Amino acid sequence: MDPTIGDLVGDVLVEDGTIAAIGPDLAVAEGSADIVDASRHIVIPGFIDSHRHLFQALMRGMATDWSLFQYFTTMFGMLGPRMTAEHMSLGTALGAYDALDSGVTTVFDYSHNQSSPEHTDEAVRALRASGIRAMFGYGGAMSEQLEILSPPFTSTTPSNEAEIRRVRHQYFSSDSGLVTMGLAVRGPDSSTMDVVRADFALGRELGLRINTHIGMAVLDPLGRPNVTRLHKEGLLGDDLIFGHCNLLTEDEFRLMADAGVSASVTPEDEAAMGHGWPPITQLLQAGIRPNIGIDTCMAVGGDPFTAMRFALAVPRGLANQRALEDSLNPWQLDISARDVLEFATIEGARALGMGDVTGSLTPGKQADIVMIRTDHISMVPVLDPVASIVHHASRGTVDNVFVAGRAVKRDGALIGVDVAELSRRAADTAIGLLETAGVTPGWAPPPPH
Ligand SMILES: [Zn+2]
Repeated sequence: MDPTIGDLVGDVLVEDGTIAAIGPDLAVAEGSADIVDASRHIVIPGFIDSHRHLFQALMRGMATDWSLFQYFTTMFGMLGPRMTAEHMSLGTALGAYDALDSGVTTVFDYSHNQSSPEHTDEAVRALRASGIRAMFGYGGAMSEQLEILSPPFTSTTPSNEAEIRRVRHQYFSSDSGLVTMGLAVRGPDSSTMDVVRADFALGRELGLRINTHIGMAVLDPLGRPNVTRLHKEGLLGDDLIFGHCNLLTEDEFRLMADAGVSASVTPEDEAAMGHGWPPITQLLQAGIRPNIGIDTCMAVGGDPFTAMRFALAVPRGLANQRALEDSLNPWQLDISARDVLEFATIEGARALGMGDVTGSLTPGKQADIVMIRTDHISMVPVLDPVASIVHHASRGTVDNVFVAGRAVKRDGALIGVDVAELSRRAADTAIGLLETAGVTPGWAPPPPH
């Protein structure tokens, strides 16, 4: 994914967790390096997920038949408020290992259930213990999210400034660790402009990137052009990541492009749950190369391959349909497999301000490396490696994963975690949580009165 290096058959030399060199036949003195045999593998940079609620892996699959608003009702009103610090720990751990297993080496953890300091302590602890590179997106209490579901349909409660400062100073006094801090704020779709101003000012004072859901579904009942409002407030900037953006206008995409705002698209759940179509074509037309997230494993699976395929097929399908409606058979396709591979790697790194750290195999960057088996029946023959990664690979072909040079998956199995023990604890705990909340498989909240 480094255009100056290109695709090659060769070696990657890692020293002290950093990529030292890439090239054909790199020479090292006999016995001076551990050799990982990468023949019959495609070696790529780790995937970057710019938007995932890791803790929700604890309730994996429960929202698979829920619309976005059924998910809001259940998550904000029933499940989220009942989650304890232990639930946050288990969910975050599950989510992080799930991500690593599928080759995601960096994730923005949009953790919007910080209902007590213990919730936060446990989420941060689990994230750090997993070995994933992450930006912990501190996202406030579930009670703040719930405010959008009743009049005035916007959140008015100020964020817990003292707690955000505590987390910044206690856990993230330096930005050099594997886990760093960001803010996951309610933003103008879900909170008042007073809240937005305070959140953005605090994030910027503390040097935190700010991620927010925006322009998805008919979330803002007033239908306000919220990117335009942010622009008028002078709040747009290149430290912002806007998640979804489905219903934004051409003018608003242009405002984002002018200000350097990143766009995080979560193609599968957006298409399915009611956010609106993934706005990939519109973003590209405005000059914004999007990045990709999974969003919630309550609704969709956690692997980046499926997300890339949706990111490719949906905008192509929409463009093809427009041509067909004009009585034209599309001759060439919009967007390439390499484009979506970039969205899932280097563009995600750039969005998180980590473009110099990860996102491509480049000497000087951290050794976040994924090795995909090419001898799997789904992969042979590998004629176009990019097509093989995007369309034929799956987590079952993700053989080895390294974060900063440290192996987290070897020979197809996660290491450093007792998966059976974690699974048992998670299942027992999740069943208890669902029972207390009265949520059963197949149940869905009825329409509001
Ligand atoms: Zn989300």
